[in-house]
Amino acid sequence: VLGMAKRCRAKILQASTSEIYGDPEVHPQPESYRGAVNPIGPRACYDEGKRAAETLFMDYHRMNGVNIRIVRIFNTYGPRMDPHDGRVISNFIRQALAGEPLTIYGDGTQTRSFCFVDDLVEGLMRMMDSEQTGPVNLGNPSEVTIGETAETIRRLTGSSSEIVHVELPEDDPKRRCPDITRARDWLNWEPTTDLESGLGRTIESFRDPATEMGAGA
Ligand code: UDP
Repeated sequence: VLGMAKRCRAKILQASTSEIYGDPEVHPQPESYRGAVNPIGPRACYDEGKRAAETLFMDYHRMNGVNIRIVRIFNTYGPRMDPHDGRVISNFIRQALAGEPLTIYGDGTQTRSFCFVDDLVEGLMRMMDSEQTGPVNLGNPSEVTIGETAETIRRLTGSSSEIVHVELPEDDPKRRCPDITRARDWLNWEPTTDLESGLGRTIESFRDPATEMGAGA
């Protein structure tokens, strides 16, 4: 794809990820942090794959002048997520609406910072329209524990599902929160949707997929 971008003189954006920071020792994570990835763990294929892609993007930029953008996307959610993709927000909403137990992996003290999809899309468009190559973090700097997230989703859905704790997957990052100073400076961007409003819209789409899909019939 980079070869094609070079031939066609296309602008090309890499959807990179906060996973390149691994289980971070620096908090929140600025773009200058080089990360702590276990290269042989179960998440390594994804993490190292994205890291290698950043390397290739930078090399094509340096050696061939390809017009690149690198964006590091932190946890994102919103309407029309696949209910069965296994991510925490989709799992908890699906479980809460079905009256099934909400499955917290580990003790639930690990943190994430969830960005509503509309905010992310705005950030992506601003980055494409800018003259920066990146990398730039795009995510919501408001950090919550997974335990709090389960409680919030249970309250917003009005569910009486119980909360159960199951085994924590190996190498699950203990905390994650973007430092978005660069996105603020470069793109004049920051998220505007708070977690409860975004979750409300996501829950509605899970209750009634037809509404959100625009499938009137
Ligand atoms: N998680 C959880 N229950 C679930 C799914 C995920 O407690 O049913 C936890 C998971 O262990 C992690 C966090 O929620 O600590 C976010 O997981 P997700 O897979 O959504 O994203 P990522 O780990 O890539 O940030």
